[in-house]
Amino acid sequence: MIIVLKRDATEAQIEHILEKIREWGLTPSLSRGEERSIIGVIGNESILRVKPVDVFPGVDYTMNVVKPYKLANAAFHPARTVIELPSLNGAAPVRIGGNELVVMAGPCAVESREGLLEVAQCVKEAGATVLRAGAFKPRTSPYAFQGMGVKGLSILAEAREKYGLYIVSEVMDTRDVEMIEEMCDIIQIGARNMQNFNLLKVVGRCDKPVMIKRGLSSTIQELLMSAEYVMSQGNQRVILCERGIRTFEPMTRNTLDLSAVPVLNRETHLPVIVDPSHGTGHWDLVRPMACAAVAAGADGVMVEVHPRPEEAFSDGSQSLVPAKFRLMMEQMRAIAGAVGKTM
Ligand code: PEP
Ligand code: MN
Repeated sequence: MIIVLKRDATEAQIEHILEKIREWGLTPSLSRGEERSIIGVIGNESILRVKPVDVFPGVDYTMNVVKPYKLANAAFHPARTVIELPSLNGAAPVRIGGNELVVMAGPCAVESREGLLEVAQCVKEAGATVLRAGAFKPRTSPYAFQGMGVKGLSILAEAREKYGLYIVSEVMDTRDVEMIEEMCDIIQIGARNMQNFNLLKVVGRCDKPVMIKRGLSSTIQELLMSAEYVMSQGNQRVILCERGIRTFEPMTRNTLDLSAVPVLNRETHLPVIVDPSHGTGHWDLVRPMACAAVAAGADGVMVEVHPRPEEAFSDGSQSLVPAKFRLMMEQMRAIAGAVGKTM
């Protein structure tokens, strides 16, 4: 930490601060400037999180130089995390975070058995390895379709068996975690629950990978702190998902922050997925932004696919029809090659 002193800080005030810092087992180093002086503090700074240094007379402001995320921090974990999903139906296991690009695709929600199996077959044939669909849906309106619940999960399990697709699905309630953990391959924490710390702690004790979607108004550091919550409980298999943030721009549902991809790749060793469906809200923007995500260094994309978007219970306007999904896959493959990834 760097403590910047007020211009009129007195010698007695400075001495008092230095004394306190030594008392906490840290080493202060005072640098006197013409205009003002600063104190650099080194040592185990975790104590400073509970000691309000700013309140000492003579202190103007403080700056943290150590990042609050440790387990998720690339500096402490130079090897990138590669999450291996166990082999399904004898096929090669899928790795998320390595050289392989992963495509998670499917409808916004499980709407019916026939509908889900139809999409599953189509995304499988086009090369996706993970099937997405919500059984528990976080809807803005309590009158909107809330998802099929447990029945939806068993339909997902059937699609998994039939097509050899891994399943990712959202959990919203700590009481459902055990069931989702049992039925799915990746547990999804939705944007609205990114800072549901109790939920994060519970999935942190699970044995399945957890994908955390960036909150609607969350910073990249807050997303990393949510990953830290999960990891602090023992589960190191965390995937981060950029899915757009709320800005003043009404032409898109959210503003897809693709600069978050290289920032995350610099700050953390965890895999990064981009969701251009929720990120843009419009099907015609999904393919270009999926391609841009690959070019920016994402480890994969998550997209919504529906054979009849006009009949979708939710998010039809941002869902790709199968032909457009296939085109997206083709273009992504070309870009993947250019950035040293395979698909
Ligand atoms: C979803 O992926 O189903 C979803 C609800 O997305 P988000 O949490 O990003 O809004
Ligand atoms: Mn959706």
